[in-house]
Amino acid sequence: MKKFNVPGVYRSSIISAIKSKRKEADKLKKDFSPTLLDFGPLQIFLARHFGFCYGVENAIEIAFRTIDENPGKRIFLLSEMIHNPQVNADLLNRGVHFLQDTKGKPLVDFDELSADDIVIIPAFGTTLSIEGKLNKIGITTEKYNTTCPFVEKVWNRSEQIAGKGYTIVVHGKPSHEETRATFSHSAANAPTVVVNDMDDAVKLAKYITREKPLADFYVEFEGRYSEGFLVERDLQKVGVVNQTTMLASDTQAISDFLKELMVQYFNLTDANIDERFADTRDTLCYATNDNQTAVMGLLETPADLAVVVGGYNSSNTSHLVELCEEKLPTFYIDSADKILSKKEILHYNFHSKQELHTVEYLPSDEPVRILITSGASCPDAVVEAVIRKFVSFYEVDRTVEEILSYFE
Ligand code: SF4
Repeated sequence: MKKFNVPGVYRSSIISAIKSKRKEADKLKKDFSPTLLDFGPLQIFLARHFGFCYGVENAIEIAFRTIDENPGKRIFLLSEMIHNPQVNADLLNRGVHFLQDTKGKPLVDFDELSADDIVIIPAFGTTLSIEGKLNKIGITTEKYNTTCPFVEKVWNRSEQIAGKGYTIVVHGKPSHEETRATFSHSAANAPTVVVNDMDDAVKLAKYITREKPLADFYVEFEGRYSEGFLVERDLQKVGVVNQTTMLASDTQAISDFLKELMVQYFNLTDANIDERFADTRDTLCYATNDNQTAVMGLLETPADLAVVVGGYNSSNTSHLVELCEEKLPTFYIDSADKILSKKEILHYNFHSKQELHTVEYLPSDEPVRILITSGASCPDAVVEAVIRKFVSFYEVDRTVEEILSYFE
């Protein structure tokens, strides 16, 4: 895979060494078992895959290069480039401004922009309408576009399905930048509706089977269907694509549910199901798949707790948390600073959207066994800082540097 020029401050020598040793031993990525860092009284199990993905490294390289190449110019980021507080803060410190918040609320009026300004499109991509507005001002959107190729792949998939006359059902978080961008691109080619979860899919099903008055659709799915969507016409033939960072099992379940519904309602068989349902595989990206599968592998290890590191608004990180929570106490943190001491930790509950303060989160019996992973927008340096923080609480048999030497 292409190597990117990412500032060294985001890298970690220990984690790079571990990743490259594991990669060398498992070139085909078949082994999802974790890596044990055995400090004696503390045992840390690192997921086989975690941290910066292709799209994030690509976006960081382009953003920092844009700053270096354009001294004296005003540089804007359309919104957070990726969902990581440290990377976004570093870009702000280098003089970059945000044009919108993560929900798309303007922070700077587009009227204040001129053709001399530079606007960086984030890894999630953007809507056709924003692209159009920027182009009208004279700002080119191709040169400083960090849209991930795996997001563009979803747009291409939607276009293909649309070409065959299917309505597109987007499984994604309706307010997430990527889903808004995918919705916009899909809606340019086909009737499109967004479902957030299985509850939404069940609600949508009631309009396919006409169990609910069709007029209710426009209220229930307000803001989530494309212009001109005609519920009696546009739910006859559907295909599902998803935000690249959703939970694989959720998308599969939604897709299976809608497929089965079409089979039952329209009396179809395997031979003619494609008349009504586009049998697409999910459009999750490789990083989401690798990281979620690695968490499954990680969870096969008996442990006391899991720590998931990543930005609190990061969709892919929250799904890793969801998987870990099913098995054991899980702490979602965005930096090592949230580990206040051996007794206290601040951590995020993404269900209630609150940061919580928990005491006595580490067991007293040794060895303490901690599973660690991180989201696709989290620098490895942050994970290393988390490991070092935990190590500092114990009289360890081996230092981090000694452990590192096993992987060099
Ligand atoms: S998580 Fe996947 S789609 Fe998103 S930026 Fe990374 S590689 Fe691209």
